[in-house]
Amino acid sequence: MNQENISKLIKQLILEIGEDPNREGLLETPDRVAKSYTKLFEGYSEDPKNLITVFDNEGYNEMLIAKDIDYYSMCEHHMLPFFGRAFIGYIPNDKIIGLSKMPRMIEIFSRRLQNQERLTKQVADSLNDLLKPKGVGVVLKAEHLCMKARGVEKQNCEIITSHFTGLFIKDDRTRSEFLNLIK
Ligand code: ZN
Repeated sequence: MNQENISKLIKQLILEIGEDPNREGLLETPDRVAKSYTKLFEGYSEDPKNLITVFDNEGYNEMLIAKDIDYYSMCEHHMLPFFGRAFIGYIPNDKIIGLSKMPRMIEIFSRRLQNQERLTKQVADSLNDLLKPKGVGVVLKAEHLCMKARGVEKQNCEIITSHFTGLFIKDDRTRSEFLNLIK
């Protein structure tokens, strides 16, 4: 990401919406936005395969869940934030993942221009590819600023998406256990 180019574009944008980019409050804004974009879109420079270490499983055969992982993403249709909580569960085979790597997985894919459906699927599929587990379940809850601040202007609408693999699809009890534990 070229911060100087982004800064120039933001200055132009400020002009186009009818503001004065040279007034005091806005002078540093293009640089600040450019800097914040390096955080908001840092996911593009990251690949879960290089960042996520896996370990040998020493006989843990039940479901493991990381719940209430907060995340922030940017909707690809309006470039406005959507954010909420993620719930990730899996049943291991031979490999397990470091606990802190589940939130990391969300970060890698949420820090991009996204839609919630794709984000949900990418997290589940990556975990599935990395661990080859018995199954993965991912649920994402989100508030979308494009639904609140513009468009239909609905303030209390929460969007929930889910993606499952393996036993979470095939076995109703597995899916129910997961859905009960994340309530
Ligand atoms: Zn949107």
